[in-house]
Amino acid sequence: MFVIRKSALIAAAIFFAAALFASVGISKANAASAEYARYTVVLDAGHGGVDPGVLGVNTKTKESDINLQIVRLLEKYFADAGFSVVLTRKNEGGLYGLPTTGYKRRDMEKRRDVIEQTAPNLVISVHQNNFIADRTRRGGQVFFKEGDEKGKALADCIQSRLNALNGCDYSALKGDYYILNCTQYASVIVECGFLSNAEDEKLLLDEEYRQKAAYAIFSGALLYLS
Ligand SMILES: [Zn+2]
Repeated sequence: MFVIRKSALIAAAIFFAAALFASVGISKANAASAEYARYTVVLDAGHGGVDPGVLGVNTKTKESDINLQIVRLLEKYFADAGFSVVLTRKNEGGLYGLPTTGYKRRDMEKRRDVIEQTAPNLVISVHQNNFIADRTRRGGQVFFKEGDEKGKALADCIQSRLNALNGCDYSALKGDYYILNCTQYASVIVECGFLSNAEDEKLLLDEEYRQKAAYAIFSGALLYLS
């Protein structure tokens, strides 16, 4: 009898300890989500539709496809952390309607409209680089708008994480691009690698590497917000 009661007590103690541990775990997870729940990020997969962007040096893989794959990975990282996430482009198609005269302008203006309507804390536009004058050039490169202090700080944070991933020592650069200039929100362009470089192309075609690149961008954004 005593033995049964003792084991029942132990079982009850284990049950309560487990329940307490679980509730602490849940509240910790809620706290993590709550920390970032006030932030909204716009993720912009560059190009799409009739505009493939640049093509991989060996496989001719479209930049637009790699951009979307990395944006989808970023979407998961940010959403899991509690962010509100808005994508400009959710599939292979462009945002221009019909591919008639002026489609590129319409495509870019649609992206601007999404950013304006969202009023985000961060805008991350994902691209892949191309430099045929020097095919040895590789690694991630981040751009910000001149005079945009928040954008520069965000770019520096993401650049530092990409440098760590790629073993590079690049600085974030000023860039005069529509997606950076079109709104007042902290915006960066992240060129994750060079599709003109065979090594980068091979890496960018690898799902595991794309996850690492997306995580580097995500952790750079968290560094900026901290
Ligand atoms: Zn591009």
